[in-house]
Amino acid sequence: MEIHSDFKHRWEEALKHIRETIGDQDTYRRWIKSIVPLSCEKNNVLLGVADEFTAEWIKTNFEEIIVSSLKIVTEKICRIKYEAGHLPVCDELAAGAGIKSQDLAHKADAVCDRSNGCYNFTSFVVGPENRIAYAAAMGMVDTKSSALSANPLFIYGGSGLGKTHLIQAVANEVKNKKNGMKTEYLSCEDLLNQYVDAIRTNRHYSFRNRFRKVNYLMIDDIHFLSKTTQLQEEFFNTFNSLYNENNKIILTSDKRPSEIHGLESRLVSRFSSGLTVEIEPFGEETRLAILRKKQEKQQIKFNDDILAFIAKNIYSDVRVLEGALFRLVVYSSIDNCKMTVDLANRILNDYLEQQSAKRVNIEAVQKAVAEFYDLRVSDLTGRNRSSNIAVPRMVSMYLSRKFTEHSLPKIGEAFSKNHATVLHAFRKIEKDRLKSEKVNREISQIERKLQAV
Ligand code: ADP
Ligand code: MG
Repeated sequence: MEIHSDFKHRWEEALKHIRETIGDQDTYRRWIKSIVPLSCEKNNVLLGVADEFTAEWIKTNFEEIIVSSLKIVTEKICRIKYEAGHLPVCDELAAGAGIKSQDLAHKADAVCDRSNGCYNFTSFVVGPENRIAYAAAMGMVDTKSSALSANPLFIYGGSGLGKTHLIQAVANEVKNKKNGMKTEYLSCEDLLNQYVDAIRTNRHYSFRNRFRKVNYLMIDDIHFLSKTTQLQEEFFNTFNSLYNENNKIILTSDKRPSEIHGLESRLVSRFSSGLTVEIEPFGEETRLAILRKKQEKQQIKFNDDILAFIAKNIYSDVRVLEGALFRLVVYSSIDNCKMTVDLANRILNDYLEQQSAKRVNIEAVQKAVAEFYDLRVSDLTGRNRSSNIAVPRMVSMYLSRKFTEHSLPKIGEAFSKNHATVLHAFRKIEKDRLKSEKVNREISQIERKLQAV
């Protein structure tokens, strides 16, 4: 590792170049000057910044400049990592912009509901895509009065669709009732770490007791369980013991149980034995409703046309929506300008570009595949099993899974097949691509066409 003072010195040198390149002194003071140079090991540079948001901001806006300036002084192309929590940040920055760094952090929290306490049912927006998951989660809180009280409840869906929010809402709600119910909420990764610790320190027994004596066990991202057979064994026994005593188990995952690679079949069947519900990707209306909800707590509020613009053009998960909204908040709080759709369009330019790559639907896939193999779309959706049609049909399912945000059952519907067939097709084509250069080339060609849409 380069001696710290050495790196500090080089960083000072690099700063001069960065300052020159950026030009705008205000921007330089606001974002760059407060960076703390932490270490430089080979090509890896670690920079300290105030918080995750600042890291993200610097990465997006200034990383190229930083790398090229460091190259001038170190003659190396450095890889940059950021570490949040280095505060003597932006008092100066804040003075310049008329805001305090804490205010910014506070605003970030307000937009993003980052503190877990905010993960409650009130701040959760319900739409057709998560209605059943929501009802099922509510049903777990008051198990006596609800018809929807299942055991276990298994919630699955893509990233950023509110699974953690929902499971923590249950955890918070049960705790708030203070009716003596014992709860344990943790992520599967935490569970795994604690298990490893318990084994290492010979506290296996107390680990076991801790989880088998609760009324509610809630594990987020349970798919990580597939990483270890030992914990699967332990969890299997915990599950059974809780289940037999009619204690409640809630699990979330990015896939349905049967799709979790490496999960023992006895766990798959246990996990599927209660209620399994999906959260589907959000449509425009729900996205707009979520943006409106996020705005409620913000100091800076935008007109509905701005929110509608985001909801219409950014059709990703909620994290991305929040990121976009937050960027607009920061822009307008720093520049004190009035937000317009035009300005939002410019500020969110990179988000919008990313999105256009995703604007592919199942029909577009079917059309592109049919064209490529010289077939009709009705061949792909029909029942003919001859191989010159069956393979393109599988390719269409594969590409639909890869390029659209539809669930397996939804894709199945478009081909009059069930979700298992779609999954089978996906895995088969994935393997075929690895095995055959010809297949790989053909599919890449279709992919390029799709992305050019
Ligand atoms: P997941 O666990 O599915 O990856 P999270 O629960 O972490 O997603 O959600 C990501 C962010 O989106 C969080 O800030 C969360 O509050 C927000 N979010 C997701 N769904 C909703 C919703 N229906 N209503 C309000 N906020 C939501
Ligand atoms: Mg999560």
